[in-house]
Amino acid sequence: MLPRPAIDLHAHSTASDGTLTPAELVRAAADAGLAVVAITDHDTTAGWGPAVDALPPGLTLVRGAEISCRWHGVEPAIPLHLLAYLFDPDHPELVAELARVRRAREARGERIVELLRADGIDVRWTEIMAAADGGTVGRPHIAAALIRAGLVATTTEAFGRDWLGERYRLPKEDIDVFRAVALVRAAGGVPVFAHPRASRRGRVVPDELVVELAAAGLAGLEADHEDHSPAEAAHVRRLAAELGLLVTGSSDFHGTHKTVRLGAHTTAPETYERIVAAASGVTGVASG
Ligand code: AMP
Ligand code: FE
Ligand code: FE
Ligand code: ZN
Repeated sequence: MLPRPAIDLHAHSTASDGTLTPAELVRAAADAGLAVVAITDHDTTAGWGPAVDALPPGLTLVRGAEISCRWHGVEPAIPLHLLAYLFDPDHPELVAELARVRRAREARGERIVELLRADGIDVRWTEIMAAADGGTVGRPHIAAALIRAGLVATTTEAFGRDWLGERYRLPKEDIDVFRAVALVRAAGGVPVFAHPRASRRGRVVPDELVVELAAAGLAGLEADHEDHSPAEAAHVRRLAAELGLLVTGSSDFHGTHKTVRLGAHTTAPETYERIVAAASGVTGVASG
């Protein structure tokens, strides 16, 4: 049974690496009993329009994105994800940076496919791009091609060390995390660090960086997330309390690219209200 009202502030659609269209996503959110859902596709706002148009009665939509960032404080730089809520989707510099990252994702995806093909693995970039159908392309799309080719059984297996998790993993050109925080704020949005302690995904950043980001305008930390162990989530909550940051919980729903369900983790209503109040952009919440 979901707590009422159930608020899930992190979900993906086919505008990036989710498997439900934006319209299907909002309908699924209503069916799951959510009161509020955020659409947070990787590096794009392309799903916002279709999600708003399909909003079921009683559901509130927070328009957002998950921005691919990098922290250059260590070598090699560490990738991290910044959730951004209710920002102006027409802010010129932010628009330019997101477009640049999407292009970098395509260049990197094509190079990963070249590496796979050089090892005799028959996946094709044109096919992967066609399947992504204009959405922000990422490793889950390559994972899907590996599954279609019968080379792995699941997305999880495709992210293993022998595949996209290590052997065929290449970095992409992300946005410097301090620049991303500044741009989201400049666009009136509210930046929240997604799954900051998810060590099972790879290297995580030190707490000192979170301290610096908080001083630079970061608004919150995502604590309850399926990639955090209970100890990691508790660490994030402690750090947020020390720094006066908001604490969110979310599913990071990706449709069938992941097993997690909408509403698996949720955010407290007071926190959601504070995020909405902190937004100063042209983008308010939309209600069906
Ligand atoms: P990319 O953005 O191309 O680097 O791919 C990262 C995306 O892959 C994340 O946003 C997740 O959706 C997905 N992902 C990352 N790690 C895993 C994993 N271990 N199993 C399944 N999906 C994953
Ligand atoms: Fe993803
Ligand atoms: Fe993420
Ligand atoms: Zn996500």
